[in-house]
Amino acid sequence: MENRGQQFSAPPDPGILVPQIAQSFRQLPISLIVNLANGLILAAVLWGAVPAFVLLTWSCLLIAVTGARFLTLQAFRNASPRSDSDHAVWTEYFLAGACAAGVVWGASGILLFHPSSFPHQVVLAFVLGGMVAGAVPLLSSVRHAYWCFAIPVVVPISIRMMWVGDRIHLIMGLLMAIFGLAMLATSAQVHRLFRDSEKLRRELFSSIEVEQALEYLVRLDSLTGIPNRRLFEEELSKEWGRAKRDKKPLSLIMADIDHFKEYNDHYGHPAGDLCLVEVAQAMYHALSRPGDVVARIGGEEFAFLLPQTDLSGAIAVAEQIRERILALNLPHEASPVARQVTLSFGISSSELFPAASPADLIRASDKALYEAKRCGRNQVVAQPRKTAPELDRGL
Ligand code: GH3
Ligand code: MG
Ligand code: MG
Repeated sequence: MENRGQQFSAPPDPGILVPQIAQSFRQLPISLIVNLANGLILAAVLWGAVPAFVLLTWSCLLIAVTGARFLTLQAFRNASPRSDSDHAVWTEYFLAGACAAGVVWGASGILLFHPSSFPHQVVLAFVLGGMVAGAVPLLSSVRHAYWCFAIPVVVPISIRMMWVGDRIHLIMGLLMAIFGLAMLATSAQVHRLFRDSEKLRRELFSSIEVEQALEYLVRLDSLTGIPNRRLFEEELSKEWGRAKRDKKPLSLIMADIDHFKEYNDHYGHPAGDLCLVEVAQAMYHALSRPGDVVARIGGEEFAFLLPQTDLSGAIAVAEQIRERILALNLPHEASPVARQVTLSFGISSSELFPAASPADLIRASDKALYEAKRCGRNQVVAQPRKTAPELDRGL
């Protein structure tokens, strides 16, 4: 049967333990310094008022516990744990340290309580109250750590105060207990705040990751898995600007599968899709330079962007790709060009366009591609270099 009580308890949140314990250990040096400093002040104030043996024994205990907690901190830093299960063990060590410190400070409420000197009692209560209040931000990130420390501190001094029996001590003991309860409630709030902010931080990170993944996906062609027209256009305008700034050539290759309509008619549309995937993947893997981009910009049309590549370099790349597709040997019985799938290529380069725009580069490649088709397909045609008079006339 379903445990009805479970529906009211917060579901365990894996992963939250890691930042919790890391935060606690990060703050531990402050705790340890405050422990030693307050212990020293207390010992100095009570020196001569309580038996030296008791004071020294208590001081040694405090130093021993602080030292042990420091060694735990060093071991945690050296271990640099990653998983939740590792952190569960370190949480236990941390809780044990907080508990031991609480017991030592709690013991001072009994051992160092001056039975007749009211000023010494007030100093002791003041130091213990300060320790309890100061521990709230330092111990609240790990669940129960604050309880482990504060309860052993507050209970003995409250009881010892009330034990004196007169009205003023009774009120002081009661005030101490109420103060302890208020601090416990505050610590619970701080703990919730820490947990919620940690959850929010993680949600924010995961939504940023999702957004980045979506940003990436909208720039990919869903059929072939290579970049799509959107990415191509963004890269073109970026690379165009860079090429102008660096005074480096930028080349563009347009590629189009020959007689692909006939391919579809002959083998069917699903086979046409598979052919597109094979061609696209071959093109994608043909590029070796990191800045080079190939994208599917239309049905059976592809575009290559080759930064820092001049016209002759682009011609070499196009020839290489054309041969790579031929090597795939994809049958195309219905093609008048060859018995296999072939492509035509049109190339243009910014080095031939002193004052042109990215759109002009596309237009010039398209024109060259049209020329490749007109001259019989399955070939590479480059944009002709313009003569000086043509350039002067803006042609
Ligand atoms: P050309 O050699 O002149 O380029 O001839 P073509 O038949 O390749 O060119 P055309 O523009 O006449 O036909 C393109 C064909 O590409 C028509 C269309 O059915 C096909 N096509 C476009 N997108 C896809 C797609 O995503 N999948 C498939 N299977 N076919 C597609
Ligand atoms: Mg075509
Ligand atoms: Mg076409």
